[in-house]
Amino acid sequence: MARVYNFGAGPAVLPLEVLEEAQRELLDYQGSGMSILESSHRGKEYDAVHQEALVNLRRLLDLGEEHEILLLQGGASAQFAMLPMNLLPMGTTADYILTGAWAKKAVSEAKIVGKVHVAANTMAEVPARIPRSEELNLTPGAAYVHLTTNETIGGIQWKTIPKTEAPLAADMSSDILSCPRNYRQFACFYAGAQKNLGPSGLAVVAVRKDLLERCPSTVPLFFRYKTHAEEQSLYNTPSTFSIYLLMLTTRWMLRQGLDAICARNREKAAKIYAAIDGSSGFYRGTAAKDSRSDMNVTFRLPNEALEEKFVKESSKAGMKALKGHRSVGGIRASIYNAFPMEGVDALVGFMREFARVNG
Ligand SMILES: *Cc1c(COP(=O)(O)O)cnc(C)c1O
Repeated sequence: MARVYNFGAGPAVLPLEVLEEAQRELLDYQGSGMSILESSHRGKEYDAVHQEALVNLRRLLDLGEEHEILLLQGGASAQFAMLPMNLLPMGTTADYILTGAWAKKAVSEAKIVGKVHVAANTMAEVPARIPRSEELNLTPGAAYVHLTTNETIGGIQWKTIPKTEAPLAADMSSDILSCPRNYRQFACFYAGAQKNLGPSGLAVVAVRKDLLERCPSTVPLFFRYKTHAEEQSLYNTPSTFSIYLLMLTTRWMLRQGLDAICARNREKAAKIYAAIDGSSGFYRGTAAKDSRSDMNVTFRLPNEALEEKFVKESSKAGMKALKGHRSVGGIRASIYNAFPMEGVDALVGFMREFARVNG
């Protein structure tokens, strides 16, 4: 079996152990004589999977009883809409911090639902960067303040989460559980699972219980957080196989320990940034240094022809999906939790050699 180094931004690399376990159990889940794919979401086999996924997430996120954790369909994009539907009633304003393409999508959906104030906007800046807390122009009495903890396309990440009067809401799709963080400081956060947690189509959502009542009665039942909270995310048929893989992935994370995962993530990112900074300008990072993401490392080469060559040759060497997002070009190395250190070492070696030959 030849596994490549998959630098894809999402769906992304999963831990090999998790894939192997899913493969072993695929036809006969723990002696039940059927696949977990074929099992009722009301049966005891699936129920144990579902409950363990929730328990593992609560442990890893270190959330207490004040938060509900929900497993919902529609990925993070559904949450761009669902969050304001639940938390932005008429007559209130939500503050959004505009740092890149994903924050912009969140703003577009929220504007359809209610009143939005852009509290800071660094979208057009080169290099990309996270605004400083004194740049935030927050609305007194805002319904919530929304930020994107890691901009997957721009390659920037919040290092310090700002303190806000209003409840804090966040899209954490591309850096959730990459490191320990005070997750309790967020009133609501969500993440599409396909970067750090499992397969696509599934979103992990955490919301403070005291906010569940905020949802206006004009919102259909299915789109209310409260509906799913009351049914432990079993209101309708959940995305059972995705949740099974999420359970295995969170089990893997608990075995590793979040501190160890975090240290490794930082080391991986630091190695690639060092290769960029040590290239005498051949590689140029696209993010401001203090905003650099540990999950998505973005950089440019002297010209687009060289970038194309870089992508082609790295692919031939077993390093896949290094092409930057189609909207911005360049190179992007996504190095989520499950991405191995050896893949980073291979990339750094390739970068050195490529710069030597083409510089
Ligand atoms: C990938 C991503 C999304 C979109 O997730 P979907 O599951 O495709 O809806 C949203 N926000 C961020 C930060 C992302 O990285």
